[in-house]
Amino acid sequence: MVKSVNPATEGLIREYPSMDFGQVGEILNKTTSTAQEWAQVSCNKRAQFAHQAAEVLESRLDEFALLITREMGKPVSQSRAEIEKCAWVCRYFAENAPTFLQDESVPSDAALSYVAYQPLGVVLAVMPWNFPFWQVFRFAAPGLTAGNGAILKHASNVSGCALAIEDVFREAGYPENLFRTIITGPEEIQQAIQSDDIQAVTLTGSEAAGSAVAAAAGKAIKKSVLELGGSDPYIILEDADLDLAAEKCAQSRLLNSGQSCIAAKRFIVLDSVREAFTEKLISRMTTRLMGDPEEPDTDLGPLARADLRDDLHKQVTSSVAAGARLLMGGQIPDRPGYFYPPTVLDEVKPGMPAYEEETFGPVAAIIAASDAEEALNIANDSEFGLGAAIFSKDTKKARSIASRIKAGSCFINDFVKSDPRLPFGGIRKSGYGRELAKLGIREFTNIQTVVVG
Ligand code: NDP
Repeated sequence: MVKSVNPATEGLIREYPSMDFGQVGEILNKTTSTAQEWAQVSCNKRAQFAHQAAEVLESRLDEFALLITREMGKPVSQSRAEIEKCAWVCRYFAENAPTFLQDESVPSDAALSYVAYQPLGVVLAVMPWNFPFWQVFRFAAPGLTAGNGAILKHASNVSGCALAIEDVFREAGYPENLFRTIITGPEEIQQAIQSDDIQAVTLTGSEAAGSAVAAAAGKAIKKSVLELGGSDPYIILEDADLDLAAEKCAQSRLLNSGQSCIAAKRFIVLDSVREAFTEKLISRMTTRLMGDPEEPDTDLGPLARADLRDDLHKQVTSSVAAGARLLMGGQIPDRPGYFYPPTVLDEVKPGMPAYEEETFGPVAAIIAASDAEEALNIANDSEFGLGAAIFSKDTKKARSIASRIKAGSCFINDFVKSDPRLPFGGIRKSGYGRELAKLGIREFTNIQTVVVG
């Protein structure tokens, strides 16, 4: 059985039976047959269903927001914003997919030559719990509109969300079995990837899960897209607007209680402004209200699971034991639920977990740099390469630093966020491939060259 536990109360919500490969295989077969018919439907017609999915999401917003909050602990105001963003991504691809997937004429020696974007078939999506609706819709809205079918293997702690998402597509009028949720384990996922029903895989999650799933896809010679962790560097230069920088950094670090791959994690601050920035950051982190995530004013809920909270605390205590200075937080509160307070570590140095690893919770690591060049070197001194940010009033200088940052995205004077209009993804151990925008929808298509002699 797979359990959903409320991380704010530690109470069991529900148990779900785990499917064996016989049951999974039956679903894969059905999805394959439906996807074959769906591929023949015009892109304009497919786009209408995405509009309908947006309407279903909005009409059931309160219900879905509460479900997210109960299963993974996100403050309900943020759960509501997540559902609204899902509706946005559905509408964005409904409106733009027909243009993105239009044939593109490319002159050559032939009488006619062009590139067409054909559906691939059924794509398996292995998704995490941190944005349980958004992670799925950001893949499914373009994926289905491009003419593919989809199988969702969601994180085990958000099975209620996984089944609710299946229901959204059903209620929106998509063909039965085009999008299906499977509740199953890693062994069945390995088998599914080898089966002829799956044409490609997308995974968002940890390096370990990404490596296991991509290895299976590689063995079967199937396309994969990976969106893994990040340890995003935020560089604060001496000419930064420190109030703006502190506000954006606190917002980014505490959103979703810090459980975001693109959260600000390493704050690389020039010596001349370090004290002033740190004070401003702490004053903003102190005002955030931690508490019952179902209350509308709560800023910080619990972390999603006990093991995630315990791992984060170990990263903090090991960093302090290695010489980091604990400026605030760092204590597990004495209350039910997997809460962890906003925490600031100063004097973080190479070798410490807060420097080397992804911290998936509300922990800010301040790292000193003597000048912009050193700050850039520290920013790039990571195995990850997802997002990065630079704070400076000199945008020309900031753009020049951005061009040397090894990350899939770099924001100047703002925090990193995903936007359906812009491609999203990483390099190095943060993964490969892109989601969203024109590039994202084309990832799961057969980019077909057609030549008429
Ligand atoms: P996982 O990577 O284990 O989980 C993500 C998804 O992968 C889940 O659906 C999970 O299923 C599945 N999965 C895990 N292992 C396998 C496997 N061998 N084969 C197939 N599917 C697999 O992340 P955790 O939830 O354990 O979080 C651990 C850390 O990962 C976090 O602290 C954070 O650093 C990072 N992470 C990054 C995310 C991001 O947005 N990039 C999101 C979540 C986590 P199941 O739940 O059943 O194990």
